Amino acid sequence: MRAEFRLGENRLTARPQDVVVIGAGVVGMATALTLADRGHRVTVIDGAAEAGRGTSFANGAQLSYAYTDALASPTTLAQMPRLLLARDPALRLHPSLDPDFLRWGLAFLKNGSAAHFRRNTLEGLALAIQSRRALHALARRHGLDFAHGTPGKIILYRSARSFAAARAISADKIAGGAEQAFLDADGAVAVEPMLAAIRPQIAGAIHTANEEVGDPYRFCTAVQAALAAGGSTSHYATQVAHIDVDGPLPAAVTAAGTRIAADRIILCTGADTVTLARRLGVRLPIQPMKGYSITAPPGAAAPRVSITDAANRVVFARLGDRMRIAGLADLGRRDTNVEPARLAALIASARAALPGAADYDAIESSWAGLRPMTPDSLPIIRTIAPGVIANTGHGALGWTYAAGSAERVAAIVEGEG
Ligand SMILES: Cc1cc2nc3c(=O)[nH]c(=O)nc-3n(C[C@H](O)[C@H](O)[C@H](O)COP(=O)(O)OP(=O)(O)OC[C@H]3O[C@@H](n4cnc5c(N)ncnc54)[C@H](O)[C@@H]3O)c2cc1C
Repeated sequence: MRAEFRLGENRLTARPQDVVVIGAGVVGMATALTLADRGHRVTVIDGAAEAGRGTSFANGAQLSYAYTDALASPTTLAQMPRLLLARDPALRLHPSLDPDFLRWGLAFLKNGSAAHFRRNTLEGLALAIQSRRALHALARRHGLDFAHGTPGKIILYRSARSFAAARAISADKIAGGAEQAFLDADGAVAVEPMLAAIRPQIAGAIHTANEEVGDPYRFCTAVQAALAAGGSTSHYATQVAHIDVDGPLPAAVTAAGTRIAADRIILCTGADTVTLARRLGVRLPIQPMKGYSITAPPGAAAPRVSITDAANRVVFARLGDRMRIAGLADLGRRDTNVEPARLAALIASARAALPGAADYDAIESSWAGLRPMTPDSLPIIRTIAPGVIANTGHGALGWTYAAGSAERVAAIVEGEG
């Protein structure tokens, strides 16, 4: 049945459905709240004790609506020999002979052509623009408090060559609706005076004044509270073992053996979705890409504007009264241990990139999480079995894409997708 849904209104005139959302990260929580707002009866299930404890916990915090550049690109392919020899401290490959890894790798290489890179980046941009509007609507409607702000963002380039490559795709992104201003070193320092210390190293910069930040964990817990206040059911500390699609309705079967049936089951389980999907006979092209973050007090030259250092692959964001710094990409690592050597590598590249951004001697917390990467850097949002919809594979931009992805799931649930 097709829903009648008028833009700007949240009234659903299709039959309200029972929907189970598995996974309470940014993607699952945005999906659950969007569906509940549209009149569906929503149940959230997560293995952790509360929302936002997975990859959404301490990510880079950037709502990066204009920086949707796919990882697979001619530039990344050109770096492949260096990557295979582990010469890039920020991006490490951990290849395996697992057929799923090999299949993923081949698809990644295919997506590295200029044409694929452009298409994937612009598809990401369209989702990001939808997400910005959708997140604003959710935040306003429910008064969600998650240190949401619009400090803007500067992407720094340290070589004329990398700046030129970025400008080329930026021209397409401007046509696709992104705001991008091209700056020289003086222009970058004029926007963010704290960059003065590294001015001689700046070959060029791209400034997007309307880029945002927000604390993903606080978003998740705020949504958890909003859902509870609205009467939705949730089961935390409840691991789902598999999805059963043999009955009249699909059911989540928990590790304790409880069946929770619904009209629709939405898998928002990040990199773990691969395991649940495989039990349904579906192979999802997702590989974990481990990254790290630190949270520290601001330093003497802490920027107000979010900064992405393209060469060092490290991102800086002010989150309330703290600096969140994130980076490293270890493709194929499946654990979330904070490895001392890799943490040290992140701190070293952050210090090298912006020495005064944080008080690096007073780091308050460090963390590692797994980005659920697809070969084209685009999420998988589709029905994968009768009544079962995947909303996963958001890679390095899950926080950015969460609210728009939720709307796309709602369209599928209501028969428009
Ligand atoms: C270092 C780093 C920095 C990043 N920076 C940014 C950034 O600045 N901006 C941005 O947009 N994105 C960023 N990302 C990416 C972003 O964090 C992820 O894309 C996003 O968190 C994925 O959200 P999710 O809800 O899909 O997954 P998760 O947050 O991992 O949530 C999945 C949930 O599913 C639950 N679950 C899994 N399996 C089961 C099961 N069988 N039963 C029950 N529950 C289950 C887990 O407990 C978990 O809570 C970053 C990622 C990393 C690692």
